[in-house]
Amino acid sequence: MTDWRTLARTVEFRFDAFIDGKPVAAADGRRIPTVNPATGEILAQVAACGDEDVDRAVASARRAFDDQRWAGTSPGHRKSVLLKLSELLRANADELALLDTLDAGKLISDTSTIDVPGSAAILQWYAETIDKAYGEIAPTARGDLALVSREPLGVVAAVVPWNYPLEMAIWKIAPALAAGNSVVLKPAEESPLSVLRLAELAVEAGLPDGVLNVVPGEGPVAGRALGLHPGVDAVTFTGSTPVGKLFLQYAGQSNMKQVWLECGGKSANVVFADAADLQAVADGVCFGIFTNAGQVCSANSRLLADRAILPDLLALVAEKAGKIRLGDPLDPETTMGPLVSEAQAARVLAYVESGHAEGRAILAGGSLGGAFVRPAIFEVGPDSRLSREEVFGPVLAVQAFDTEDEAIALANDSIYGLAASVWSDSLRRAHRVAGRLRAGTVSVNTVDALDVTTPFGGFGQSGFGRDLSLHALDKFTALKTTWVNYR
Ligand code: NAD
Repeated sequence: MTDWRTLARTVEFRFDAFIDGKPVAAADGRRIPTVNPATGEILAQVAACGDEDVDRAVASARRAFDDQRWAGTSPGHRKSVLLKLSELLRANADELALLDTLDAGKLISDTSTIDVPGSAAILQWYAETIDKAYGEIAPTARGDLALVSREPLGVVAAVVPWNYPLEMAIWKIAPALAAGNSVVLKPAEESPLSVLRLAELAVEAGLPDGVLNVVPGEGPVAGRALGLHPGVDAVTFTGSTPVGKLFLQYAGQSNMKQVWLECGGKSANVVFADAADLQAVADGVCFGIFTNAGQVCSANSRLLADRAILPDLLALVAEKAGKIRLGDPLDPETTMGPLVSEAQAARVLAYVESGHAEGRAILAGGSLGGAFVRPAIFEVGPDSRLSREEVFGPVLAVQAFDTEDEAIALANDSIYGLAASVWSDSLRRAHRVAGRLRAGTVSVNTVDALDVTTPFGGFGQSGFGRDLSLHALDKFTALKTTWVNYR
């Protein structure tokens, strides 16, 4: 078995921005610390990019696009480079997994089995699409030939959150690069380390300089500069709904760049009395809200259950949640690590307080010191903060329902619409309810089903972009018509 604690001591950190194929300090020399939330230790002082650095990165990406050093190469070549990068992710898997674990407090048992292998697989999948993407010929009259092709957009800015630092970046970068774009990536302040290493690996894989740039820094500085930059053709964003709205404003104030948003959620787990295997439901409920300490955009943070089975279900859920082992994320036996930061823990603990004030505690939650927060479960009303607001922590809001219509109305009563689950052994009911739930993904008799082959994204204020699947390529390309008259 891998001795992760020993290995963690050998990891080196990259702390400069990565622009035009090279690590560089911020122009004004400013740095911000990135902290290990499990220990409070400062891991590295990372370049804090400002306007000048973002300008340099966008200019580098633009040069790379305009001289076609990437977009102009053969599909077979681009495929081989991205396949090589995917191999390099696998070859450096332990290091990348440790970087996300140290930087964001994520469990090593997740980063080493989900985040890094998943990222490599997604890169491989998009690499395989490059030489299989055909254009169209429109049905015009004889004497006219209208070709419809998909063209890369140019410079894509990717602004990503800290909950899956490497994987969220790969969700964006893989299809954007596969489509032939140049990319400027801004990681979250809390978790820049894995993608700074990724940028180096991309050069090693043969990606030309300037095609992938990384500008770490603060959201309101580096993120804003990308949002407002006239040289950026499209922004692909994953993060909170308020910041997603800012990107729409930035686009309107600048060059009308395309904006693709993947934002927050308050996803419902809807359990009917005809779900026969209540233990499987309880396991799904716990997985849905306690995975990654609840820091998942599609976390099933609401449990809606038929009043008849709610007491039995809650007993099983509480028993399962009671076995969660909170502790060192480097220990493979740990099942929940810290939140990403003490600031995030304070935000989540304020929600735990509101649960105590507004509802009935099934599991009390509370602080374990530092960034560690114990799982919490509250039975609450539909208008409570816990039923309506995204917590982004291990806090479950529970409500009972009496009828199918009421369950659907409660589930849809949210500004968000990212994901939902339905538990029922009736095929008719499962389809009926799934059809009426307003969510980008409805999982039936499971939670948070997703795969590179299926689109992921939301309705309502969860955003409107779609990551993953061939559909993700649409947002990084524009349709172009070339009309030839040969009469
Ligand atoms: P956040 O919105 O605070 O930050 C996301 C990114 O935006 C970061 O890189 C941040 O630096 C940047 N940013 C922050 N303020 C900015 C500003 N004023 N201008 C420009 N950029 C700015 O989100 P977070 O706390 O990092 O992540 C948690 C959020 O992400 C949750 O709401 C979660 O639901 C969402 N999320 C959504 C998905 C999805 O696919 N729908 C996936 C993962 C996370």
